[in-house]
Amino acid sequence: MKSSGISDVLDGSLSYKAVGAIPVNQPLLNGNEQRYLNDCIETGWISSEGPYVERFEAAMAARVDRSYGVGVANGSAALDIAIASLRIQPGDEVILPSFTIISCAAAVVRSGATPVVVDCDPLTFNSTAQHYSDAITSRTKALMIVHIYGLPADMDPILALAEKHGLAVIEDAAQMHGQTYKGRPCGSFGTISTFSFYPNKLVTSGEGGMVVTNDPVLAENCRSLRNLCFDPRQRFVHEELGWNYRLTNMQAAIGLAQVEQLDETVARKREIGKQYSELLCSLSGVKLPVNRTDYAEGLYWVFSVILDDEMEMDAKAAMAALAEQKIGTRPFFWPMHMQPVFKKMGLFADISCPVAERIAKRGFYIPSGLALTTLQMQRVAAVMHKVLR
Ligand SMILES: *Cc1c(COP(=O)(O)O)cnc(C)c1O
Repeated sequence: MKSSGISDVLDGSLSYKAVGAIPVNQPLLNGNEQRYLNDCIETGWISSEGPYVERFEAAMAARVDRSYGVGVANGSAALDIAIASLRIQPGDEVILPSFTIISCAAAVVRSGATPVVVDCDPLTFNSTAQHYSDAITSRTKALMIVHIYGLPADMDPILALAEKHGLAVIEDAAQMHGQTYKGRPCGSFGTISTFSFYPNKLVTSGEGGMVVTNDPVLAENCRSLRNLCFDPRQRFVHEELGWNYRLTNMQAAIGLAQVEQLDETVARKREIGKQYSELLCSLSGVKLPVNRTDYAEGLYWVFSVILDDEMEMDAKAAMAALAEQKIGTRPFFWPMHMQPVFKKMGLFADISCPVAERIAKRGFYIPSGLALTTLQMQRVAAVMHKVLR
């Protein structure tokens, strides 16, 4: 197959037949995953009681400068446990972005506390200290920070705000493995911080998640909560309700192999971001992701596209047109204050978050997985140039 350049991209001559369907994500498992997984099977350690769980916890915690890591079943479970470990309860308020995944708000709702959602910045998609500050009341107990899509939230002013009001910080770093803020790792900022290892994340274990913290009491709470709160002195006696959110040795084996390769993964994500930025920069009517801020370089967990208001097409129509050309996409998050499930609970009745509302309707992301090839990116760009003209 002849190699193709920007001219082929612009005239759209890279065909589907040449490239095949392009999924929105395909993970890359090309390190020690297979070897470690075989080890689990050969030794018979397939449950959560196997050596890879602690190795993975230690490796991930070390990577983000934390004393403790507690592996759990997924990133949503990590948020449930993080909230519960802080003893957040009915009457408390937790402030979080409206523009995020439902796991964040669900964890607060299930704790019995009240979620308070705020808008976000139109360029980084992250909520800022100002957003949080405007929502603080005498009942606020914690701020939940979520780093969205590629750039971390501007942490220093947020941490100062939390400090000033004596609030806990829950940092959801599920999209930020390997990302830094002013040189410090994402996942190192919260009173407690969480990760997901779903296959579209920068570290995957198939399904999986982790909480990390420097606080030994919180770490112990989390270990107990993920394991049904068995009483260590008297098994099958429970002082508290927990979950079975354990991570298996097999998941941890894959996760460990993935952490070992995180530097390469981050470099590859940034390379994908750079290539797409070059291929798509001449496309008018769309906003590409911000490449850097004064505190971080874009990580491009996903490569996002926002259609300008002047474009007749909305994200839904653009995604349908791309799907017709066998190119996978995903819509942006649908804001929490617009979720039917929360409306039915009477939550967020008078909330408006104009930025979140706008980007939810105008934004989507294109294939951004680690297994993506240059040819596939060129094909995606060619179709984008044709479809979004
Ligand atoms: C993926 C993700 C989660 C949920 O993780 P799961 O492992 O899918 O449960 C939570 N928060 C954010 C920001 C995510 O991106």
